[in-house]
Amino acid sequence: MRPLTDCHAHTELSYCADGVLTIEVYRAALDDPGCIVARQALTNHGFQAYFPPDIAWSWAFLDRPALFDRHLARGDERLSAFKEKVEDCRDDRLIFGVEVELMGDGRLTISDALRAEAQLLLGSLHVMPRVYHKGHLPAQAIESFLAYLRDLAAAGVDVIAHPFRWLHESDMPIPQECIDETVAIAKTHGLALELSARGRGEPALALIKACVAAGVPLALATDAHSLAEVGRLQPAVEQIESAGFSLDRVPLFDGRPPS
Ligand SMILES: [Zn+2]
Ligand SMILES: [Zn+2]
Repeated sequence: MRPLTDCHAHTELSYCADGVLTIEVYRAALDDPGCIVARQALTNHGFQAYFPPDIAWSWAFLDRPALFDRHLARGDERLSAFKEKVEDCRDDRLIFGVEVELMGDGRLTISDALRAEAQLLLGSLHVMPRVYHKGHLPAQAIESFLAYLRDLAAAGVDVIAHPFRWLHESDMPIPQECIDETVAIAKTHGLALELSARGRGEPALALIKACVAAGVPLALATDAHSLAEVGRLQPAVEQIESAGFSLDRVPLFDGRPPS
């Protein structure tokens, strides 16, 4: 089977991940002959590295990006220490990445210094900054979503993580035109779109078909937050097969080569 990269997973550095998820847990999974993952990106949340939990979970930094400047040193220190731990492993199967959000002023939740160090940047939408809010009707939500996505793509990420989660969790319909436009944005900026093994009701089959048609790479992701999810890329592989493709025939994003 084609060697697969898990482009998205969390360690104990992320508040929302299980405290047992050390780098060693991921390395042990890679060593397991039954594991289909050949390369593992470790992509903790930028906002959780920079902000203490109370600010992180308030999401206030999205609308008050000055908070980010105030916590810059804290996050840089935490992410640098983590990067050093990854490097200490001297294991070229590991990729040091960060999952970032776009704040209301158009900046990503990562400093320029750390951005230069990261081998992989995932851009995510978990909570919409107020400045992008157009309204609560489905058409307005899609307009907000696409405006955010265009700015996120232009800000220089490599992958759009769980692209439709926000719309899905907002109980909004995700029409084919919205999927096609998302793929077109990724194509314009040379980005990959994530196919998550955790996809909870996102339109995976339509996404796979649109990506294959446009030649936009899919970034396979466990988005592991718990031990049970480590190395479990199989659901994403099965979605590709359900969409009628063999794994060898779809464009896959394999992460950036380690520096
Ligand atoms: Zn996420
Ligand atoms: Zn994540």
